[in-house]
Amino acid sequence: MSYWVYLILAGVVILLAVILGRAVAFRSRRYTVDPLPAPKIDINRAAERLSGAVQLPTVAASDPAKVDRASFELFIRYLEQAYPQAHAVLEREIVNGYSLLYRWKGRDASLKPVLFLAHIDVVPVEKGTEQDWLYPPFSGALAEGFVWGRGTMDVKNQLISIMEAVECLAAEGFTPSRDFYLAFGHDEETRGEEGAVKISELLQSRGLSFEYVLDEGGAVTVGAMPGVKRPLALVGIAEKGYADIRITAQGEAGHSSMPPRHTAAGMIGRAVAALERRQRPARISPYLRETLAHIGPEMGFGLRLILANLWLFGPLFKLVFKSSRAGNALLRTTTAVTVLEGGSKPNVLPRKASAIINYRIAPGESVQELLHHVRRVVGDELEVEAIQATEPSRISPVDSPGFKAIERAIYAIFPEAVTVPYIVMAGTDAIRYEPLSEQIYRFTPMLISAEDLERVHGTNERLSLENIERGIRFYIDLFKR
Ligand SMILES: [Zn+2]
Repeated sequence: MSYWVYLILAGVVILLAVILGRAVAFRSRRYTVDPLPAPKIDINRAAERLSGAVQLPTVAASDPAKVDRASFELFIRYLEQAYPQAHAVLEREIVNGYSLLYRWKGRDASLKPVLFLAHIDVVPVEKGTEQDWLYPPFSGALAEGFVWGRGTMDVKNQLISIMEAVECLAAEGFTPSRDFYLAFGHDEETRGEEGAVKISELLQSRGLSFEYVLDEGGAVTVGAMPGVKRPLALVGIAEKGYADIRITAQGEAGHSSMPPRHTAAGMIGRAVAALERRQRPARISPYLRETLAHIGPEMGFGLRLILANLWLFGPLFKLVFKSSRAGNALLRTTTAVTVLEGGSKPNVLPRKASAIINYRIAPGESVQELLHHVRRVVGDELEVEAIQATEPSRISPVDSPGFKAIERAIYAIFPEAVTVPYIVMAGTDAIRYEPLSEQIYRFTPMLISAEDLERVHGTNERLSLENIERGIRFYIDLFKR
């Protein structure tokens, strides 16, 4: 055999050794944390207090006139009555009528404060689904080991966990080492303009900045990823941006018996087809690399081999990942044509036609870039405008004190789970606090199955007593450590 064959063989052997070596060295990032001495928690009373919070229908509505303001006022008073010890140690401000900002003064003013978020509002119950609820959505029924109702998972559970933890620690005479701020907006589900935005502006006007911010986000989810047995504690380190982009074509009106080659409706049809064909590029972005680095070592050897060697298998990985909707959404800015408007009579040329495309923008890209892309794809004849747009968030670091603090509390309360940083697909209030901290995380301390996720914004939303306990213990642990 010639010299070249030996050289190629040697190359293949080295390559295989590198691939295998990397897979073997691809170690789990999990670690164990000794839980603090278990605090005394009265779970039944906590469940009753969550139930009471659920019974106040603080339902979000995009039309301000449709918001039941009385429920929001009652909610503020309800917290005051339900958590007297907490209210004795917290300073409270009501922001813009219905949002809450609390401060728990710490011992050491030289340490940067921490900010804990939740929201008071809940999404409405979809018309026609009321009958599908086993217990009425605002009953707060305590049955079968659960509290039932709208807001038990999104996200009165988090708000109540925070208040329970403060109540419990205040009763023990505990004072935090640094200042804790709690901020509960009242319109997260309708984009937070009146709540989170106002609170954030207030905090900025005071020159504050925070060590880290913790908002609602991923849960500890069982069965979220095929091939991974451990529950994944999903901690959002970034969130996608949002844009509704309208494209409009003007045409000649008139009778349809002698039409132009392309009517306004036809032009929109072609543009929509082109936008679906020429999507934004799929990328293994820095946040996705973090997700894969944490999840990879928990997988079977085959997948571990691939994820440990993205330098080689990256293109293959993208190809496979892209074929599932969830994978595709992780890889790129997504394109969804959602609204089409055109003519109204079969035999009349439409004067105007339009489409709205809903984009979810990947971190690292911008609204400006997206508009540029759309204009390039649809051409100059069509008008392009953003009706509504929010930039994607920054990506928060994983090797930071804030992430580590949250991770330690996760491992103390959910020792079987593995923490996985990930990107949140939906918008949260957290993005409004970006001017206040470099470290913004999104996590909801409850252990649920992947199917249970459908109850969020859906039917039969409920929270188990075990999860009420975990939520409270999570915050106690986080506060104490
Ligand atoms: Zn929420």
